[in-house]
Amino acid sequence: MTDQISRRDFLYATAGASGWLATAPFPALELDASQPPAGTPAVPAGWFDRPMRWVQLTLVENDPGRFDPQFWLDYFRRLHADAATLSAGGIVAYYPTEVPLHHRSSWLGTSDPFGELVKGCRSLQMNIVARTDPHAVRDEVRAAHPDWISVNRNGEPVRHWANRELWVTCALGPYNFEFMDQVHREIVSRYKVDGIFSNRWAPQGGDCYCTHCQKNFKDATGLELPRTTDARDPGRRQYLEWRTARLIDLWKRWDATVQSANPEARYIPNGPPSMKSAGELAAIQFTDNQARRGLTPPWNNGRRAKELRSVMGRRPIGGIFSVGVEEPYRWKDSVQSEPEIQLWVAEGTANGMRPWVTKFSGVLYDRRWLPVVERIYDWHYRHERYLRNESPVAAIGLLYSEQTGRYHPGVAAGDRAEDHVLGMYHALIEARMPFELVHEAFLTPDRLDRFKVLVLADAAALSDAQCEAIRGYVERGGSVVATFASSLYDEWGQQRKDFGLADIFGVSFAGRIEGPMQNSYLNLDPDPSTRKHHQVLRGLEDAPRIINGVFRVDVRPTREFPSPVTLVPSYPDLPMEDVYPRVPRTETRELYLREVGRGRVAYIPWDIDRTFWEVLSPDHGRLLRNVLGWAMNQEPAPVEVDGRGVVDVTVWRQRDSMTVHLVNLSNPMMMKGPLREIIPIGPLTVRVRVPGGLRATKVKLLTAGTSAAPQGAGTLTVQVPTVDVHEVVAIDLEPAKR
Ligand SMILES: [Zn+2]
Repeated sequence: MTDQISRRDFLYATAGASGWLATAPFPALELDASQPPAGTPAVPAGWFDRPMRWVQLTLVENDPGRFDPQFWLDYFRRLHADAATLSAGGIVAYYPTEVPLHHRSSWLGTSDPFGELVKGCRSLQMNIVARTDPHAVRDEVRAAHPDWISVNRNGEPVRHWANRELWVTCALGPYNFEFMDQVHREIVSRYKVDGIFSNRWAPQGGDCYCTHCQKNFKDATGLELPRTTDARDPGRRQYLEWRTARLIDLWKRWDATVQSANPEARYIPNGPPSMKSAGELAAIQFTDNQARRGLTPPWNNGRRAKELRSVMGRRPIGGIFSVGVEEPYRWKDSVQSEPEIQLWVAEGTANGMRPWVTKFSGVLYDRRWLPVVERIYDWHYRHERYLRNESPVAAIGLLYSEQTGRYHPGVAAGDRAEDHVLGMYHALIEARMPFELVHEAFLTPDRLDRFKVLVLADAAALSDAQCEAIRGYVERGGSVVATFASSLYDEWGQQRKDFGLADIFGVSFAGRIEGPMQNSYLNLDPDPSTRKHHQVLRGLEDAPRIINGVFRVDVRPTREFPSPVTLVPSYPDLPMEDVYPRVPRTETRELYLREVGRGRVAYIPWDIDRTFWEVLSPDHGRLLRNVLGWAMNQEPAPVEVDGRGVVDVTVWRQRDSMTVHLVNLSNPMMMKGPLREIIPIGPLTVRVRVPGGLRATKVKLLTAGTSAAPQGAGTLTVQVPTVDVHEVVAIDLEPAKR
């Protein structure tokens, strides 16, 4: 799989000194030195947390007899890999299966390559997960069980889109629930593996209209299968919910089967039915975003890690990466540039994901990637102690709303909820503010109250209960920064009369969303009485006005607000003789700032985040950073990094140490891979706040291999001379003497 997100422009902008907060004595925000943070689900008992480095070998059908298992086992040893995912069954069985219709590789003969690899990996003390892929079958399977095949909306069985000899299976019917259940039982019983991992186990190639899907959906809802793909259609909505529930049932069924054959083992889906279900069911989980493609920024691998951690907490997660070019043309036997692989994996590691290299085909055509992955894994092995994270350290939580993505198509063509999140994500990266994602399904006080600021980047679809949870967070002293249509819709995407959080924002919906707007601006004004600029305009004092966004929600304030940012309505942009503002000044606020108890609330009624993603105006980035800094309300940041470049900064606690990861994103080709070469940045000055009650005993730079003299408790200043791709400031900690 590849990771692609839409982008419309490139960026080269550097974050300046992140002087948005004064250095101050040590914060209350920090985690207790001895306790894991509240709201972190416990690590499940079992093997799951042990492996730090994963490998996956996906065999192709003609590998048996042609590939050299010993070559791979030697390589796994050199990688210090401690878990492997190995091809076992599904489309092709790589062991002598006894399950009828389970197709043995035509090259299998009397061999058992899966069993041989299992044995070899076990001798290397590796955990083993068997890979299955249930999404396609051959003619004989269709002949025996025509009802196992997916059916399109015209009532025709679905041929495989890439291999016309195969048929696509129905993921929600007896093929998976019964046939694959037998396959999974056989694999785990016979080989006592630690788990089953299925690729493409959810519906493939469009919605299925087979007899089972028709009947099961009707039994569950009383409805016929929907013909529309419009998520706002009530029938479609019920279908999506039913499909998710059905996949959760399948997960539970396979998991029960796997555990009945080996109580230590688990079923691991590649791609959970929903993030919420992963949070509820998974002991271990992986993201399958193997490389970037198109205009995916490199930080997107870190974003996938943050998404998964927002439901998994402390439970182990892995990041599957490939070594090949991941573009739509699917060159599965290709090899990427070394810097590109390095950067993608570094982003995952810096954001709490364990590396999982995947390779298709036991026979290699291009071996250039082998030493590259070996270097990455060797670094990881040598510094494992500092990569066994207990908890992230961040003051900012960005709400991750799956239901907004699913049920809210945006307010108009050109508005897409995800673009707001991506713009905010990029602004936070540029601001060098460590942050976490907070999943909408788990808005409990113990999870929310870890953060000083909760950010709603057009979190449009929120339920009443979710709004209430956010209201409670503000009442307990939390700050909120919200943009655009946040809470204007319910959890099913139905528009409300007013924002669900109108009382928190201090404004009401005035009934209209304007846009796309041409040639609109924002006036930035000092306070009329003091002539001083508000904190949110820091660095913009010489700008009387800046460009506006593209969409705005018309709102009516329900109380008095300061007016540092006001609207200049659109005026003609052609002919040039007509390009002058018709209304140069208004009293319409485009930023609403208020204090609520110990917290602060900033509501921005326009699409600053979405426009930032599209246009990347440095003024918008600065304004966002300042608003976030204002919302921090004097709370010191966990880390500040000075120096040039675009850097992803993350902070972690381990049992006896803490780390600051610095990933250099300021390379040419940052916004479009593959990287040609690494352009180092540095020097950087890193100021880290050592948690209360602890002091530093040793400071190391893991990549440079140098150490620095510790400077005791409080704020530690570390000079990092240079960063190629990834540097980690590792700080050993011990209790401070009282
Ligand atoms: Zn079906």
